Parts: sequence; structure tokens; C-alpha cells
Amino acid sequence: MRTGQLQLFIPGPTNVPDSVRQAMNVPMQDMRASDFGDLTLPLFDRLRGLFRTRTGQVMMFPGSGTAAWEAAITNTLNPGDRVLMARHGQFSALWVEMAERLGLDVEVIDVPWGAGCPVADFARHLGNDRKDRIRAVFVTHNETATGVTSDVAAVRRALDECFHDALLFVDGVSSIASIDFRMDDWGVDLAVTGSQKGLMLPPGLGILAVSEKAMEASRTATLRRAYFEFSDMVRMNAGGYFPYTPPIPLLHGLRAALDRIDAEGLDAVIARHRRLAEGVRRGIAAWGLDLIAAHPSLCSDTVSAIRVPQGVDARDVLRIAYDDFHTSFGAGLGPLQGRAFRIGHLGDLNEAMCLTALSVAEMALLRAGVQLQPGAGVGAAQLWFAGPDRAAARLPLAAE
Ligand SMILES: *Cc1c(COP(=O)(O)O)cnc(C)c1O
Repeated sequence: MRTGQLQLFIPGPTNVPDSVRQAMNVPMQDMRASDFGDLTLPLFDRLRGLFRTRTGQVMMFPGSGTAAWEAAITNTLNPGDRVLMARHGQFSALWVEMAERLGLDVEVIDVPWGAGCPVADFARHLGNDRKDRIRAVFVTHNETATGVTSDVAAVRRALDECFHDALLFVDGVSSIASIDFRMDDWGVDLAVTGSQKGLMLPPGLGILAVSEKAMEASRTATLRRAYFEFSDMVRMNAGGYFPYTPPIPLLHGLRAALDRIDAEGLDAVIARHRRLAEGVRRGIAAWGLDLIAAHPSLCSDTVSAIRVPQGVDARDVLRIAYDDFHTSFGAGLGPLQGRAFRIGHLGDLNEAMCLTALSVAEMALLRAGVQLQPGAGVGAAQLWFAGPDRAAARLPLAAE
């Protein structure tokens, strides 16, 4: 018998606020009714704000973020097209694998897990590509497996500096609506996200924002697709409809989630993620443990991947947290399995919840055999959240 609530600190699915849960408890309605667009049409416009695009075409496909990846690739590219991608964590690696499976010619740059998108290598490959054979460049904005945020604007500059015409694709699944992301300012052609991370919804929606240039590419792209066909979606969406049955409760939930983000303000949401993440990072540092992120400038504000000391199995930390303390942390993925665990700190979250995460992690680490002073991490985070250094600190957003 477990009492109390499961404490969920995984980087997706994230906690769904009560107002969003209740908004999804609706009787089913007619998705072909004349007033269905009252629900759906405003959502497209509001999602544009979230992607920070004025002209991007927003689409929602039933499915997870992985579905959005597939929709992005199959609608805009052709069999054998050359694309430039980096592998620096589980999600970027899976995106490479999908691109290969779909028949693209992937120029893969492998960098250590914990590094960011290798912009200088990208620039070199683009500069050497005199005939513009590279059709698209893919960037995983926030590598959720390693807790690393990459510099998308720098990739745009690398493209511009060699006058390269490739499309810029961004996986923003664990960044959009929680880390600063600017589709138009950064010249992103196609950005994807999912419902179950920053948007605080259950899984089930793959969301894309597509630039005019990428829409143009979709008109001639010949990779096979059917369910994910952009043109069917765009044509039906124009009237507020979908080419097939949409997940209606999720659309109601999305409206409520966007209400919450609007009420807080997107800039404030992003600043809150930064503030909470900094507290968690200070806690981890106080334990004497290292992040997987190779440099402080790369640290993600939505997830921290923590390396456990030699001789300790991170799977024990996860198991103890779950079995003994009814708390979920994220597992180490791929080669980080057993070597790292992750604290997800995104979505509907506050200081108290972050302190709970650190407190339970301390107990689980202790039981798993890590030497640490109980309360050390919690205390460091408390000082950041409530102490004098917090008041004195300035944490400018990139936007300021
Ligand atoms: C969660 C996530 C995905 C998609 O995962 P799904 O389980 O398909 O929703 C893709 N990329 C990143 C960076 C993610 O964090």
C-alpha cells in the first residue's frame, strides 16, 4: 500500500496541473460540427506564440514527439537526401537512426555525450559542401539524456556565414515552453515538440511549427508518407478540422495549459525554469557529484543528468527512490545506464517540489552507498531559493 502522491521528477511525462486534468474531462463532441473550430482554431495561433513564430505553420499530429520527428522528415525530404546531424545523447542518436531508416544519407558527427551540438564541425562540413548537397541540418536543442542545451542560433549563423541553403530542423521536445526558443529569430525551418513535457499535458500530441521554406519543400518532397501528410493536415486545419479523429480531450487540455502559460507569461515560465534548475544544480554540486553536461554553459534548465561515483549503480538509486520513497527519477539512457540518473525539473514545478527531489535523492544515494552529508544538497538549494545570494543574483534571460 503506497500512501501520498507519486513524486514525479522525470523529464516527461511531467506533472499535469489539476486545472489541465479537469479541462480534459469532457463529454465527447462532434469533430465535424460547425463550431469545432471554436476550440481548435485559437490553439494554432497560440502555439505560434509558444514557438515564437509569426509565420510558421503549426500542426498537431496524434502521436508522441517521435511521430513529429517522422512527420518532419518525410514531408520535407527525398530518398537519399544528405543531412547533417550530431550524436551526443540518446535522443539525438535516435533521431539519426530514424533518418537512416527512412532512407536519408546522414552525415553524422559523433561527439562525447555531455557535449553540445558541435557547431564548429557543422560549420566546417557546411563550408566544404560547395554544391549545397546537404539538404537539412538537425539540432537537438535540449538533449534530454545528458541534460545539455545547445546553441541553435550559432548553427543558424554557421549556415548563414557560408551562405548555405539547407533547412534547419530543431528537436525542441524538452525545451519549447520551458527554455528560451525563438523560431523566427533563429531562422528555424522546422521545430518539433510533444505534449508531455513543457506543455504539462499527457503524452499524445506531436506538435510541429513549419517555416514557409519548409512548407515549400514539402510540396515536392518524395519520401513516402500517408498519415503524416502535411497538405492534408493544413487543408483540414484551415477550417479548424483534422483529416482524422483528433484526441479531443488533449485539445481541451492544451487550451487550459496555454491559459496557464499565458497567465504566468512565457518569459516568466522560462525564468522560473532557470531559477529552479539553478537550485537543483547547486544541490548536486553540494553533494560533490558531477553533471554529465561537460561545461556549465551547456547545463539544461529542464533536466539534470547526474553521474554517480564509481562502484555505485545508478539503477539502485532509481529503484530505492521508487520502492522506498514513491519518487521517480529519470534513468540513465544508453551508455549512461547504471552510471547516471536524471532529475527532471520542467513543467508545473516550484521550489518546494525541487527540494523534495533533492531530499529524496539524498536518501536514495545514501542507501545506494554514496557518501554524502544528508541535507547538504537541500541546504544549498534552500540558500539559492531563499537566501541572500538569490536576492543579489541577476539572472538575465537571453532575451534581455
Ligand atoms: C521526449 C523527447 C523526444 C520524444 O519522445 P517521445 O517519447 O516520442 O515523445 C524527442 N526528443 C527529445 C529531446 C525528448 O526529450
